[in-house]
Amino acid sequence: MEIEIATIGGYEEVGRQMTAVRAGDDVVVFDMGLNLSQVLIHDNVETEKMHSLDLIDMGAIPDDRIMSDLEGDVKAIVPTHGHLDHIGAISKLAHRYDAPVVATPFTIELVKQQVEGESKFNVGNDLVKMSAGETMSIGDSGQVELEFVHVTHSIIDAINPVLHTPEGAVVYGLDKRMDHSPVLEDPIDMKRFREIGREGNGVLCYIEDCTNAGRKGRTPSESVARRHLQDVMTSIEDYDGGIVATTFSSHISRVSSLIEFAKDIGRQPVLLGRSMEKYSGTAERLGFVDIPDDVGMYGHRKSVDRTFKRIMKEGKEDYLPIVTGHQGEPRAMLTRMGRGETPYELDEGDKVIFSARVIPEPTNEGQRYQSERLLKMQGARIYDEIHVSGHLREEGHYQMLDALQPQHVIPAHQNLKGFAPYVDLAESQGYALGRDLHVTRNGNMIQLVE
Ligand SMILES: [Zn+2]
Repeated sequence: MEIEIATIGGYEEVGRQMTAVRAGDDVVVFDMGLNLSQVLIHDNVETEKMHSLDLIDMGAIPDDRIMSDLEGDVKAIVPTHGHLDHIGAISKLAHRYDAPVVATPFTIELVKQQVEGESKFNVGNDLVKMSAGETMSIGDSGQVELEFVHVTHSIIDAINPVLHTPEGAVVYGLDKRMDHSPVLEDPIDMKRFREIGREGNGVLCYIEDCTNAGRKGRTPSESVARRHLQDVMTSIEDYDGGIVATTFSSHISRVSSLIEFAKDIGRQPVLLGRSMEKYSGTAERLGFVDIPDDVGMYGHRKSVDRTFKRIMKEGKEDYLPIVTGHQGEPRAMLTRMGRGETPYELDEGDKVIFSARVIPEPTNEGQRYQSERLLKMQGARIYDEIHVSGHLREEGHYQMLDALQPQHVIPAHQNLKGFAPYVDLAESQGYALGRDLHVTRNGNMIQLVE
């Protein structure tokens, strides 16, 4: 059976991930992401109203026009998890394919919300839920099967999809951390990866997220970030002024730890900001997390400001606002607080906890710098980098190669510079560039079996 891989997006950047795998006549698309930084550098861009071709020209969504060179029909569009760089282009591209979107329940719910917010295109693809550990037959040959393997990442319900073909398995490895003691869900399913590496014809190809390949050692578990956060919050238990925390809204495990520790130090947590309300509300509704009934979630500006007014009246020392704005995003809640645009007043010595790391990218770094300066000018004390990454470091990469024993490896989720450490690492394991280690760019085809 012919096996061909189209590397469409996310091979020259982190963002707008999209890869297609053709097995005979059947094609499966993995991820359809948005490169948000390409959107944010323009003022007042409303992607909801924009046409796909304009967004492609901006470098914001994958240029999927090479899909017409693949001789097969798309049978499924499979986002691995709910981060925007993996699902953000579905509302712009999916309607061009006569195929369902297949993803885990939490991811499907986020896709659904995104498609509903789209105003340019009518995306009518079926949305099919499939959980980790389950499989689905692809096409009519009876020889191709899609499987979801549970992985751990900085968002819940993440999977690595595996396409089983008669030539071996194609494992799409974006994005994960090897977490054996995560906070809200099961550990990564390494047992299944080891089995896939050894059953049938083994693994034909592994497409790998190279984000932290240049960092030594292993990525710590979410339970380490949780203990770090607990240590920080316990240390300011007796502070009788304002404490504010921010983190990734989609990072449900972290938000849930913040809620728990706020209660432990005698403060009432409250979630503020549009995306805080969106992600936590969704996770709660689907039963992934149990948020106490008395924890308010407010997204609209009016209800947020009303809540701030109430906090100022009743006393800042009794509350822990958990807000958006960990990257200094100009319109996010913490940035507005820094600019003095909310009724919440910061006083000398108030604490601001960043349970996040700045995404190393000039736009974010600049915005975050500005936001921190504004907060400090009002007297705030900053607690920074209470966080662990969602991506594998060196040792995790070695362990994955050892578990899967892939015949071919394709580095992904980086630019050329970001691929370099992974290439060194894979070469040390016997792979050779151009033979079975394929460094590629957006818009290329790699034929693995002719
Ligand atoms: Zn991700």
